[in-house]
Amino acid sequence: MEDTKVKVNIDDKLYLNTYNVDTLPHLAIKDQKICETCKEKTCTFICPARVYEWKDGHVTVGYEGCLECGACRIACSHDNIDWNFTRGGFGIQFRLA
Ligand code: SF4
Ligand code: SF4
Repeated sequence: MEDTKVKVNIDDKLYLNTYNVDTLPHLAIKDQKICETCKEKTCTFICPARVYEWKDGHVTVGYEGCLECGACRIACSHDNIDWNFTRGGFGIQFRLA
């Protein structure tokens, strides 16, 4: 039987989006010391845009690529992400294709 599933490459979809990047970050780690002891580091794999990276003993936040999906806000079991929407006129503009 023929496989009719459509395979979607998320990188191809992300490439369609455009961003009006703010100079002020709308995401921040509240306390890096908590990240140091966080065993799960869920933020580093839950984010579809790979905004968070564990590097040199702390979490970096590449807020410029954020899709504003809110997943990291829910997924951090330590409530350690200061999460806000972008200011009006800034952030992602989704393109459907
Ligand atoms: S999941 Fe939360 S506490 Fe853990 S590394 Fe990420 S931001 Fe830090
Ligand atoms: S809101 Fe979504 S895209 Fe933005 S950093 Fe969190 S998980 Fe990543």
